[in-house]
Amino acid sequence: MIEVKGVSKAYGGKKVVDAVSLKIKEGAITSFIGPNGAGKSTLLSLMSRLQTKDAGQVLIQGKDVADWNSTELAKTISILKQSNHLTLRLTVRELVSFGRFPYSQGKLTKQDWQQVDEAIAYLGLTEMQDKFLDQLSGGQSQRAFIAMVVAQNTPYILLDEPLNNLDMKHSVSIMKVLRRLVEEKGKTVVIVIHDINFASCYSDYIVALKDGTIVNEGSTDRMIDTEVLENVYDMDIPIETINGNRIGVYFT
Ligand code: ADP
Ligand code: MG
Repeated sequence: MIEVKGVSKAYGGKKVVDAVSLKIKEGAITSFIGPNGAGKSTLLSLMSRLQTKDAGQVLIQGKDVADWNSTELAKTISILKQSNHLTLRLTVRELVSFGRFPYSQGKLTKQDWQQVDEAIAYLGLTEMQDKFLDQLSGGQSQRAFIAMVVAQNTPYILLDEPLNNLDMKHSVSIMKVLRRLVEEKGKTVVIVIHDINFASCYSDYIVALKDGTIVNEGSTDRMIDTEVLENVYDMDIPIETINGNRIGVYFT
């Protein structure tokens, strides 16, 4: 369980995450939505200790994230940041193998390599595993970074805008991978996502942030709602039900 209790973070005197409290559902996909600058990325970073909080507590399995041993934390929670513009001369396979560092400290065992292979296959990258990252399209490279996180094999997986750079086909395929991680491996996934319709079709729970606070949260069905979304985005978004999914029609 990840529990966020009254967490705040300020930059230059401005609170960008303001006394946020939240319990993340286990074995489910939670989507953070909200306008640019709402504090979504900062909250994700605070949850994983990538950044330090000014106030409040983040409890992971009951223990404050500040008190975790780094290696144990890296075996428990993984995070993929919003932009990975690394231009390292690394192959896909080498990058994915970094996911095993918390377990192997650089000396990967046969079992570690098995997990690397499995993660590469999970993301459909087997054929390009020996290519260098700088030879890949933005979408392929994004999938390689997600494979690294899958190889890390943590119960909690946080992904900041994992659909960045991806075309529709690969966006759908990533969301299906995340669903499989939940259904087959019991993972708990938290993503930041801009497309409310991807959030609607693939997540179980939605948390809407604005100006550093949670303006609303609830089951996907309840959140994909004209009145709720008006409050989040200051936009009129009619909702249509298509094949049982609630779809926001925001092109009007
Ligand atoms: P979101 O991911 O919802 O777009 P962020 O969490 O990235 O929002 O940012 C929230 C606010 O905090 C923004 O106004 C942003 O400019 C500011 N901010 C984020 N990171 C930093 C930083 N390292 N230094 C100063 N301001 C920051
Ligand atoms: Mg962000």
